[in-house]
Amino acid sequence: MNSSEIDIHKELKKYFGFNQFKGLQEQVIKSILAQINTFVIMPTGGGKSLCYQLPALIQGGTAIVVSPLIALMKNQVDAIRSLSSENGIAHVLNSSLTKSEITQVKKDITSGLTKLLYVAPESLTKEEYVQFLQSVPISFVAIDEAHCISEWGHDFRPEYRNLRHIIKQLGNVPVIGLTATATPKVQEDILKNLDMSDARTFKASFNRPNLFYEVRTKTKNIESDIIRFIKQHKGKSGIIYCLSRKKVEAIAEVLQVNGISAVPYHAGLDAKTRAKHQDMFLMEDVDVVVATIAFGMGIDKPDVRFVIHHDIPKSLESYYQETGRAGRDGGEGYCMAYYSYKDVEKLEKFMSGKPVAEQEIGFALLQEVVAYAETSMSRRKFLLHYFGEEFSSETGEGADMDDNVRNPKGKKEAMDEVVKLLKVVRDTKHLYKSKEIIFTLIGRVNAVIKAHRTDAQQFFGSGVDFEERHWMALIRQVLVEGLLSKDIETYGILKVTDKGLDFINHPTSFMMSEDHEYNESEDESIVT
Ligand code: ADP
Repeated sequence: MNSSEIDIHKELKKYFGFNQFKGLQEQVIKSILAQINTFVIMPTGGGKSLCYQLPALIQGGTAIVVSPLIALMKNQVDAIRSLSSENGIAHVLNSSLTKSEITQVKKDITSGLTKLLYVAPESLTKEEYVQFLQSVPISFVAIDEAHCISEWGHDFRPEYRNLRHIIKQLGNVPVIGLTATATPKVQEDILKNLDMSDARTFKASFNRPNLFYEVRTKTKNIESDIIRFIKQHKGKSGIIYCLSRKKVEAIAEVLQVNGISAVPYHAGLDAKTRAKHQDMFLMEDVDVVVATIAFGMGIDKPDVRFVIHHDIPKSLESYYQETGRAGRDGGEGYCMAYYSYKDVEKLEKFMSGKPVAEQEIGFALLQEVVAYAETSMSRRKFLLHYFGEEFSSETGEGADMDDNVRNPKGKKEAMDEVVKLLKVVRDTKHLYKSKEIIFTLIGRVNAVIKAHRTDAQQFFGSGVDFEERHWMALIRQVLVEGLLSKDIETYGILKVTDKGLDFINHPTSFMMSEDHEYNESEDESIVT
């Protein structure tokens, strides 16, 4: 059958039992069926899997699905097999298979039975597999978790970098990239590395209007604060993320002692215990899982009511991903993060042993988390801006769902300061990151400023009336408003945008609020 003649609604009902497509699924599927390279960016739970599963099932040939996690591949294969009477409809190809199992997989593919073949990227480096795949009809290659290709993603995997080369050897097959995390920089990396700049891109909104965001100062009373919070949400399911295994154990114990049903989850526990704790959470035998980031990938519990970050995450991508596990059913989802600058310093220290390029990326990503925590503007607007999405604080869905919007700080007119800031960025010739811009404004020198002789300029010290913190807050707000942009490639050099240049010439009102001040003396920082 010609793909244009296929009634995809009927096929959706037949295979998956759903009456309609979710979000952009229909457009994506049509693009895939038309053999067009396709790029899908949808938040977790958006229904990405079906975007490639359905076209694979209804087309001739086998679709190759590249996925980074063996456990997830197995789940997906089981799910597909349950839709059909034929086990051979989906297979995983990996090094753990026996010789006779591999023979069976190849037989099923050759006979046209297998519609979906899941492979880990490292399996595709095996010459023998590539040769075999060259000899059979391939409908398309889907690359799941495509952000793994980018060093700017939160889960960089070098094996993903070979994919383009391998796919090219398979002939002219369409490529589908899918991800739930895509800052503009990661998107660009994916398209470039997969050589699919011609891809039709489908991007769903990342706004989760039912999630409430709050950041609290991390003090030595954090444990009683968490206990109080959980007791206020009695009987509801929640996840608490900690950075270290030791902290996970400690918090789980404190909760248990305080009559809260909680279990720990981290990679240091044996597989049996991990599976047991995960099941207990899914089956609602316990309310709370205290976990490291090892917990959550592929977990589809719809009614998680809160996600608490005991320690700040390393990037906003991770934060979005982890908080995204709350309220998947559209119901209440409370996302609370505890913040302390000491934690940031600890994380920076951990990173200092890594290769320089990796460190720079790590610092830049962490600075975004700091900015998110310290900002006094709409947290939703801030997060969505980070993902390249404009959000209206007035009319956007969920606009009042965060601590900053509910309890706004006083605002004041900052038009003149914005002009001053923009001029300094412009007149220092787009050479500086926030730090040097602020130093220039307040008249402080460092080696970089000396080297460029900025301290001899007449605008040096032009913003001395305000403190460093004030300028930092203003830079963050001006970035989100699009008057400045930050160049990620150079790890954060500021540039005045066209909109910013326009503002210098025709200034208008700019209302700003001061960032939060966190009381460092009461800190309880990450204890490892
Ligand atoms: P993602 O991979 O984007 O995180 P999934 O593919 O796991 O999302 O899908 C999330 C959930 O949505 C799954 O439970 C899936 O069965 C469901 N789903 C997907 N498409 C549809 C649809 N068209 N109608 C109803 N439910 C759907």
